[in-house]
Amino acid sequence: MLMEKQRQQIVEYSRKLTTENLTSGTGGNISIIDRNTNTFAISPSGIDYFKMKKEDVVVINLDGKVIEGDRKPSSEFEMHRLIYKNKDDAKAIVHCHSTYATSLSINRMDLPASHYIVADLGGCDVKCAKYETYGTKEIALSALDALKERYACLLANHGQIAYTDTIEKAFDRAITVEWLSKLYIISSQISKPFILDDEEMDKIVKKFQNYGQKK
Ligand code: 13P
Ligand code: ZN
Repeated sequence: MLMEKQRQQIVEYSRKLTTENLTSGTGGNISIIDRNTNTFAISPSGIDYFKMKKEDVVVINLDGKVIEGDRKPSSEFEMHRLIYKNKDDAKAIVHCHSTYATSLSINRMDLPASHYIVADLGGCDVKCAKYETYGTKEIALSALDALKERYACLLANHGQIAYTDTIEKAFDRAITVEWLSKLYIISSQISKPFILDDEEMDKIVKKFQNYGQKK
């Protein structure tokens, strides 16, 4: 079986989408790429995450051709494919319909720098992509545009998408987008939140390069 380890990880992390409250039903999709073969494994379309098996995960190449798997791939495979094609540092992608991030996206709002952790998503905000119908080339292009210099974006009236170099970290990034959206929505109910300015956020983006233990 091609990409067996990654297919198993996709099964596990798809279940976590539900158990970590990042989505409802079969909303969302997950993929992992092998940069040696330039093929990626992606969750199948519309299969209950608790019934999904690694055999159901589909392997696709960067031209969009199915290489292995009998199931129909996620309807958002083009969005995943374009991110892998255009961003060399993308190795795993998590898309979900988490409540707070999706609520901002329904208002077609960017998530501003209400907390310094926004810098972990690459800059001074998380952009909301222009609305396009789910599962189309157009939504893939609008997501790519909103992901310029960012590791995550919101998808208008839909949800959010996050990527990085491992599935563990991509999943954490999706959790971070949801947590930041929740903080911003709650603080907006109290009063008008203070937003960190671009100069401060630039400082934090740089500081994050040395965050934690020496690499
Ligand atoms: P799939 O089940 O086809 O991946 O679709 C879910 C989704 O979130 C579409 O945007
Ligand atoms: Zn979706």
